[in-house]
Amino acid sequence: MFYIGCHLSVSGGYEHMGKEALSIGANTFQYFTKNPRGRGSKEPTPEDVAALVKLLEENNFAPPLAHAPYTYNPASKDENIREYTTEAMAKELRFLEAIPGALYNFHPGCHVGQGLEVGIQYIADLLNTILTPDQNTTVLLETMAGKGTEIGSKFEELRAIIDLVNEDVRGKVGVCLDTCHVSDAGYDIAGDPDAVFAEFDRIVGLDRLKAIHINDSKNPLGAHKDRHEKIGDGFLGIEGFDKIINCKAVKHLPFYLETPNEVDGYAKEIALLKSMRKE
Ligand code: FE
Ligand code: FE
Ligand code: ZN
Repeated sequence: MFYIGCHLSVSGGYEHMGKEALSIGANTFQYFTKNPRGRGSKEPTPEDVAALVKLLEENNFAPPLAHAPYTYNPASKDENIREYTTEAMAKELRFLEAIPGALYNFHPGCHVGQGLEVGIQYIADLLNTILTPDQNTTVLLETMAGKGTEIGSKFEELRAIIDLVNEDVRGKVGVCLDTCHVSDAGYDIAGDPDAVFAEFDRIVGLDRLKAIHINDSKNPLGAHKDRHEKIGDGFLGIEGFDKIINCKAVKHLPFYLETPNEVDGYAKEIALLKSMRKE
């Protein structure tokens, strides 16, 4: 099964995202847990979430991927920001328990000021505070481009965070690999995805990899910029994506587009990727 979807807006509610995904040929989707524009985003009702869960089951969807807001910074040197992030993420995780097998992706954070090691410890502290051994949601650290003081652009940094997570909840932690970000971070994911996934396996372990953000990049390998591009229009190129989506190591995982598109553009990219996929 090829699980492919894209980023959708949560503003029309949960069931609405499922219906929108179906209408564009997707069998999964990603959404921000809070509307980044803030205003007007109502709390979802239990009925709305239950209707989505029914739709997911009936249509054999891969779990939807909830993405934490960019305003969170688990690695901040400001204790108030860390506390705010911890409380907000804990609340979102409690809510996500209503969706079986839910995935929750977040940016590990920026260590502005206090250094990489302290930042890594703060991220692990946050995970040790919010994770419980009986939760059904898996929390994913996203691989980052390495812009500014971003943590998580090297596989070793992700491994260091996971190693500091308590053993009883470590199974609730995974990774979401973003193809634009890893290329910007210097991993040649378009040229030799097998080698990059082998390196990931050696350092983090492929069993931790739960999702792929599938994006082209406006910038060349190692640029540390994080500017997404439409599939085939950037430096990764169409041949790169042909290799990536057919890679044995990751074929079974859900792929989520975060390319600069409206819904109709996503529909075209999903159709394109499906045509390139060898089952
Ligand atoms: Fe992200
Ligand atoms: Fe991403
Ligand atoms: Zn990005």
